[in-house]
Amino acid sequence: MEAGKTSDVVIIGAGPAGLSAAIYACRAGKSVLLLEAEQFGGQIVNTPDVENYPGIKKISGFDFAYGLYEQATALGATVEFDRAAAIVKNGTGFIVKGEQAEYGAKAVIIATGAKNRHLGLDAEQKFVGRGVSYCATCDGAFFKGKTVAVNGGGNTAVEDAKYLSGICGRVYVIHRRDQFRADEKSVEFLASKPNVEFVLNSTVTDLIGDEDGKLEAIEVMDKLSGEKKKLEVSALFVAIGQVPDNKAFDGEVRIDDKGYVEGGEDCLTGTDGIYVAGDCRTKSVRQLTTAAADGAVAGLAAAAYAD
Ligand code: NAP
Repeated sequence: MEAGKTSDVVIIGAGPAGLSAAIYACRAGKSVLLLEAEQFGGQIVNTPDVENYPGIKKISGFDFAYGLYEQATALGATVEFDRAAAIVKNGTGFIVKGEQAEYGAKAVIIATGAKNRHLGLDAEQKFVGRGVSYCATCDGAFFKGKTVAVNGGGNTAVEDAKYLSGICGRVYVIHRRDQFRADEKSVEFLASKPNVEFVLNSTVTDLIGDEDGKLEAIEVMDKLSGEKKKLEVSALFVAIGQVPDNKAFDGEVRIDDKGYVEGGEDCLTGTDGIYVAGDCRTKSVRQLTTAAADGAVAGLAAAAYAD
């Protein structure tokens, strides 16, 4: 395994929390390495419109993430595409073991975010890329004029449905309760769209394909009556929340029973020199604003530790 150089601060995850932490640590005069397993920007790159980040009326998730990336790298942060597999203590500092190399660090920030939750249906995997999608902005355009469904009741589902209603002929929004978790204003706006239909108190129970193996319908169960019905759709956009993935760091930091790294608003993990920021942290509000706020707190704390 290649031995990487030692940085003052290694940040695991280049989403909004990690990139914000990089901005603050760089501005504090520290050398910063961001390790990213997939693509910079995290989950927000898949959000069509962000309308609740203070000071910015409306911006696409991709543009927002790209702005953060440009800001962090212009300040001197470097980005390596590698998946962090472990953090081990090394004297007063740490070694972050990646799949491709090892990276020395005086301080580490875990900002791994979270991944899309899957429905858990047997047929789900076989329809990925054949009608089942976890990203409306990536795949919505393939279903121009068609009937599609969005599953979920959070901001992601509502934003996705809003976006799809401008492209697709008809959009079903399937949610397991009759109250949405998403902002009331966004739900009201979505409800005003003539080509959007809410299917509430309902879950998706099966995926049905055509002879070419492409999705042609979904089975939906009304949770109150137990009744099942078939909705003919060309695509199902799954937006039922996220799950964290921090198993690699268990032992070095405390992980709660849902997989989040235990830490408070001070972003401390209980292990000196390791901080946690953003959606991967135990917290009650997971928003861009709170991810950026964590980034500032963790970035400054890690920079001070690395002094
Ligand atoms: P979320 O807020 O956790 O919502 C997940 C939704 O999926 C909930 O409505 C939940 O139902 C439902 N759900 C969960 N597990 C399910 C299952 N197994 N089967 C069926 N339905 C299930 O997730 P999110 O919408 O992805 O948002 C994540 C965070 O990012 C949130 O804090 C959100 O506000 C934020 N976000 C912000 C923006 C923005 O600011 N523009 C955009 C996107 C996301 P219940 O409601 O019944 O639990």
